[in-house]
Amino acid sequence: MTGKGSSGEQLDRKFVVAIDGPAGAGKSTIALHLARRFGLLNLETGAMYRALALKALRAGTSLDDPSALKCLADDTVICLEPGEDENRVLLDGEDVTGQIRNQMVTDAASRVSVFPPIRAAMVRRQQEMGAKGGVVMEGRDIGTVVFPDAEVKIFLDAAPEVRGMRRYDQIGQQGRSPQQPEEVIRDLRARDERDRNRADSPLKPAPDAILLDSTNLTLEEVVRAAETTVAAWLAQAKTTS
Ligand code: C5P
Repeated sequence: MTGKGSSGEQLDRKFVVAIDGPAGAGKSTIALHLARRFGLLNLETGAMYRALALKALRAGTSLDDPSALKCLADDTVICLEPGEDENRVLLDGEDVTGQIRNQMVTDAASRVSVFPPIRAAMVRRQQEMGAKGGVVMEGRDIGTVVFPDAEVKIFLDAAPEVRGMRRYDQIGQQGRSPQQPEEVIRDLRARDERDRNRADSPLKPAPDAILLDSTNLTLEEVVRAAETTVAAWLAQAKTTS
C-alpha cells in the first residue's frame, strides 16, 4: 500500500489523520485541505449523526428514547461519499446532503449522539470506512475512540464567540434562514456542553493530540499549521520506515 499525496509525499503504508474539536472550529475546512494536499479520503462523521437525526425526525421517533433510536439505527444504512467540497451523504440510498445542515437537524443530531448504542453503531461503521487508512476523519471522538491509534491527531479549538461568528457568516453565505449572532453562539454553546459532558465518548483532546487554537489565527494560518503537522509526521515516518 502506498500513501501518496498531490505534493508527491510517499509512504509505504496508509495513515489516518484524526481531527476533533467543537462545532465551528473549522474542522471540515481543514480536513478538506489536508485531504487535497496529502491525497486522503475526507470523511465527516458528524454527517452520519445528522443523517440518523433526519431519519428520526421524519419518522417521528422520540429524540429522548434510546431504544427506539437504536431500532431505527439498526434499520438504517448511512454512506459517506467524498465529494469536491463536502461529503455526499446517502441515507438508505437517498441523497440527503442538502437536508442535514438546517437548525432542526443540527439540534437533533446533537441529541441523538449522546446515546451509547447509537455511538457504538456509528463508531463501528466509521472504523470500517477508515480501516484501509488513507483517510482524514473529522468529528468529536476520532482520536479518542474511533481511531485511538491514528498516526496524526489534531484537536482544533477556538473561543465560542469566534466559532459562533464564523458559523453565523457561513450560514449567511449559504443563504440559510437568518439567526441573530447571539442565537448562533447560544446554540453552539449548548451543543458544546452536550458533547463535552456526555458520559460516553465526551469531546476532549486525545492525550497525544496536537492542540490547535484558531481563535487568533486566519484560515490560512490554521491550514498551514495543520499541513505542517502532517508533513512533519510524514517526514519522520519516512526516516523510520
Ligand atoms: O460535526 P457536526 O456538527 O456535523 O456534528 C453533528 C453532531 O454530531 C455534533 O453536534 C455532535 O454532537 C455529534 N457528533 C458526535 N461525534 C462525532 C461527530 C459528530 O457526537 N464523531
